Amino acid sequence: SSVVASNAAAFEVRPSANPLPAIQRDAALADLKFGTQFTDHMARMQWRKDEGWGDRRVEAYGPLQLDPAAAVLHYAQEIFEGLKAFKWADGSVHLFRPEANAERFNRSAHRLALPQLPVEDFVGSLEALIAADVAWVPGVEESSLYLRPFMFASEAFLGVRPAHVIDYLLIASPVGPYFPGGVKPVSIWVAQGFHRAGPGGTGDAKCGGNYAASLLPQQQAAEHGCQQVLFLDAKNDRYLEELGGMNVFVVRRDGTIETPRLTGTILEGITRSSVIQQLEDDGRKVIEKDITLDEVRAGVEDGDIAEVFACGTAAVVTPVGRLASPTFDVQINGGEAGQVTMGIRQRLTDIQYGRDEDTYGWMR
Ligand code: PMP
Repeated sequence: SSVVASNAAAFEVRPSANPLPAIQRDAALADLKFGTQFTDHMARMQWRKDEGWGDRRVEAYGPLQLDPAAAVLHYAQEIFEGLKAFKWADGSVHLFRPEANAERFNRSAHRLALPQLPVEDFVGSLEALIAADVAWVPGVEESSLYLRPFMFASEAFLGVRPAHVIDYLLIASPVGPYFPGGVKPVSIWVAQGFHRAGPGGTGDAKCGGNYAASLLPQQQAAEHGCQQVLFLDAKNDRYLEELGGMNVFVVRRDGTIETPRLTGTILEGITRSSVIQQLEDDGRKVIEKDITLDEVRAGVEDGDIAEVFACGTAAVVTPVGRLASPTFDVQINGGEAGQVTMGIRQRLTDIQYGRDEDTYGWMR
């Protein structure tokens, strides 16, 4: 929907003196990997205490100059977002729910004592950068331009307090299909002895520190042959929370769908909200509640749970084929992608790629 105004015109464009030659860019777009290739430009602005946001510009992508005392390097005052722009068959380019990312960015900013960023500036930076680098939006099937807005404390000061100088940057990376050979169910390891977030912590904020803390358990998941780690709640060590970078859903045999309720320790995924809305509009019952690991294991074993899936911007909707811990190792739906999972994946990607009518006004 185009209801929120954009500040794109306020960004001064200073074109790169060295854009990648078109022939090399098109070669890069024909061989996409995740997060390794970046477009010619980046958007940025700076916030100063007492002055607010200024210096809006789009300039050549390149390394930052950062003082070694920059607060972010010491106290991790940093937040980020992740969203995608999609090229439709007619060549037009569309963002998926950017206003929702802008609002979550501000909720994260609040928790990290960072300044609020007007939604028009967030959306404006996206539009200004995409306009400059529109040739970088890939057109091959299931590809997109991944956008990474982030904000950090750049003030050179070692005192522990909210910084007085903050940089906002936006970079963009063309990405190919998350599952190049077709959608494959992932295996999940239940984190042992580690939690992602505690009550009152930063679990519902998208801050870099949460991801730093997830890497060791993620590594342990890989050692057990799993691609993803599932975190349980810190208080009881019993309830499902989410994966390192995705929300999780279970599908009961009777068609009821359940997902962990938002307790403050889970990131509120935009894919999660979209999936819930679509499932409900399709007449399915979706329950947000506390879900124990024990009931999921038992449900998978006795067939009461037919499917488990994870969802997030990067992989959209991903079937889970295996759930493992030191005490059990169960296959879900015979290790195959389930019908409900693949149905919701199709329904969402059809809107994102303009193959279906955007009845929700999600595309901008
Ligand atoms: N949980 C975590 C911890 C994440 O990092 C992400 C990715 N942003 C998600 C859930 C899914 O959120 P979204 O659907 O907005 O990408």
